[in-house]
Amino acid sequence: MTAALQDMSVQGELRYDEPMSKHTSWRVGGPADVYFRPASVEDLAVFLHELDEDTPIFWLGAGTNLLVRDGGIRGVVIAATRMLRDLEQVDKLTVRAGAGVPCTQLARQCVRWGLGPSEFFAGIPGTVGGALTMNAGAHGGETWERVESVRTIELGGEVHQRAPAEYTVGYRSVKGPANEWFLGATFRFEPDATPAQATLDAMLERRKTTQPLGLPSCGSVFRNPEGDHAARLIEAAGLKGRRIGGAEVSEKHANFIINTGGASATDIEELIEHVRETVLDVHGVSLVHEVRIVGEVQR
Ligand SMILES: Cc1cc2nc3c(=O)[nH]c(=O)nc-3n(C[C@H](O)[C@H](O)[C@H](O)COP(=O)(O)OP(=O)(O)OC[C@H]3O[C@@H](n4cnc5c(N)ncnc54)[C@H](O)[C@@H]3O)c2cc1C
Repeated sequence: MTAALQDMSVQGELRYDEPMSKHTSWRVGGPADVYFRPASVEDLAVFLHELDEDTPIFWLGAGTNLLVRDGGIRGVVIAATRMLRDLEQVDKLTVRAGAGVPCTQLARQCVRWGLGPSEFFAGIPGTVGGALTMNAGAHGGETWERVESVRTIELGGEVHQRAPAEYTVGYRSVKGPANEWFLGATFRFEPDATPAQATLDAMLERRKTTQPLGLPSCGSVFRNPEGDHAARLIEAAGLKGRRIGGAEVSEKHANFIINTGGASATDIEELIEHVRETVLDVHGVSLVHEVRIVGEVQR
């Protein structure tokens, strides 16, 4: 694969054996065989077009919802966030954002434009592309409630404009055409009559007091089960502070697992499984993880 890649006429950056721990908010993860940072959408299209169709592709956002195993990722990781940074107001209520735009930037800019409800994006540390994939949400707001259309690129490099009706969207789940990735979206908001900056500040303040921000984590590990909160179930099962290696169930927010320093992906994955099994034993509830677990186990 390496030789074929070196013959490609792309302008972006290609790295080999790139440690994924550099690109995930948990600061863990083994090497990706190939890490490609395209220079432009055209460059990305050339890369996808020329890539052997059997090569596995993994698309990376800001890595804030990812557990990459210690054996790393076979195939190619595409990190296209730096060049998909366009953010503009198309008309009074409509905003176009590239997949690489940080959700915090989208929130702050919409507040400046007097558009809401957009404040909820401020506390989500990922990109617009990640938010579209996860249907990220907070404080009662969800990404896809605001989507008017998305722009995608497919395996052969062809670009499409798609409507929300082409996707099945649920709680932290989005299903759409296979082998396509988001280049960006057009969002429709409403004129915001409330003092949105104050709402945004209050939301961020609340996070500071309830979440272990500043420590490597992936936010909430598990989805909330219908009518309950994963954090409540984990805390009631006596799991706060439980450790495996360098991974620990946060004392501040029981649905967060933090890397206390030197955790491996295996420590984190084992702790996730331990929490899941304990909650099942104690409460009879089978938690489903929200975090995406990818890559190979180290041998
Ligand atoms: C402190 C903290 C707080 C958090 N709070 C919240 C919260 O309140 N609400 C919430 O929903 N989440 C929260 N998260 C989780 C995370 O930020 C979101 O899931 C976010 O949407 C992930 O975006 P990302 O860019 O980091 O995606 P990544 O973690 O890089 O990727 C996530 C998935 O999206 C895919 N992907 C990324 N970009 C694209 C693209 N352009 N096209 C196709 N697929 C793509 C990846 O392949 C992967 O499967 C939190 C995380 C942290 C660390």
